[in-house]
Amino acid sequence: MKLDTKAMRHLTAEDWRVLTAVEIGSRNHEIIPTPLIESLSKLRGGSSRVHKSISALAKVGLIARLKEAKYDGYRLTYGGLDYLALHTYASRKEVYSVGNRIGVGKESDILVVADESGTQRVLKIHRLGRISFRTVKSNRDYLRKRQGGSWMYLSRLAAEKEFAFMRALKEEGFPVPEPISQSRHTILMHFIDAFPLRQISEVPDPAALYAELISMILRLAKHGLIHGDFNEFNILIKEEREKPDASVKGKEAENTTEESKDSYIVTPILIDFPQMVSMDHQNAEMYFDRDVNCVKRFFERRFHFVSTQPGPFFKDAKKTVGKDGARRLDAAVEASGFSKKALKDLEAAIREQQATRGDETGSGDEYDGGSTDEDEDEDEDEENTDTDESDAGKDDQGADLQKIEMEKLSI
Ligand code: ADP
Ligand code: MG
Repeated sequence: MKLDTKAMRHLTAEDWRVLTAVEIGSRNHEIIPTPLIESLSKLRGGSSRVHKSISALAKVGLIARLKEAKYDGYRLTYGGLDYLALHTYASRKEVYSVGNRIGVGKESDILVVADESGTQRVLKIHRLGRISFRTVKSNRDYLRKRQGGSWMYLSRLAAEKEFAFMRALKEEGFPVPEPISQSRHTILMHFIDAFPLRQISEVPDPAALYAELISMILRLAKHGLIHGDFNEFNILIKEEREKPDASVKGKEAENTTEESKDSYIVTPILIDFPQMVSMDHQNAEMYFDRDVNCVKRFFERRFHFVSTQPGPFFKDAKKTVGKDGARRLDAAVEASGFSKKALKDLEAAIREQQATRGDETGSGDEYDGGSTDEDEDEDEDEENTDTDESDAGKDDQGADLQKIEMEKLSI
């Protein structure tokens, strides 16, 4: 699913109205009958004007005609929803141009975009429900009921939940990207000029970074949260050259002789929040242990670092929840308008998606790699399952600002 913004400049105001009408219609209809599109778009030129727009939109793939339908109708495509979101950001003056895709996973596309001043930002487009839900029966039943709308519903929920958590975490002072805005199945956030830990072959002090990551897990727990996918792809590593006059603290100070490597300060930034769960979740211990073990395993493999301390353990972390006045972010976010049912639906979809990624730790982002130029299919179950340590196919990930060409949105 590649986002091609070229067709955007050819869309007329009427076309946008008709596209919006299809979106509104899809709240209650899997397939939106043409007469409903006509009445929802309330265009002056009447039905012939609407038909012209329908053809234009269908031609560039923003809506799709459903041939098997008993009646003549259309549905919104991912492309159509992408355009609507971009249109919203453009009219709020939050996005002015769109650049390269810098990351692609089964659940999302990550694009560099920019505002009018050229400041780069990141647009994360959720693509939940893009794979088929073959293995879990309840999901199959559930999908049968919701069919066409499910991907839109689930992807929007994922974006809303991720945005809510990112905002709450940022407010609490966690090292996460600054969230800017949210529309439909997308979120807009600050660009982090950093590479995922996965791509980092050396750090000045693995023990210090390990301790920092573990303390991040514990700090999350204190606020009632488990990340749920705390792995080397979801931790971006900022490497900043230490200023000569900066007060050198602790660990860094010990190694000042080996200048090039040790004059960097390494800061981890945590990303990717749609799967976050509460410390009160019925499987909290499993999620907590999985996050901890992900860090342990990665540090052992990559940096040959094994902590001398066992744990941390869930039962100890559980005792700290809400202590010392720590705000319960799990409760705060859940109280901010997510229905229990919606969160359950999302959780089931994410769990299913993680299961199809296929590794036992659930940190199956390992399959994220691959060419950025190929369109992904609706059904990606049979994707590459090579899980070795090779970084092949990951070179599109991370920041390379030089390569980014921006395309202005003409809307
Ligand atoms: P997914 O849910 O598909 O795993 P992520 O949120 O983990 O999506 O993002 C995938 C990749 O995109 C990351 O590994 C990282 O390389 C890049 N990325 C995501 N957010 C940002 C950001 N704010 N700044 C820079 N790169 C980012
Ligand atoms: Mg990720």
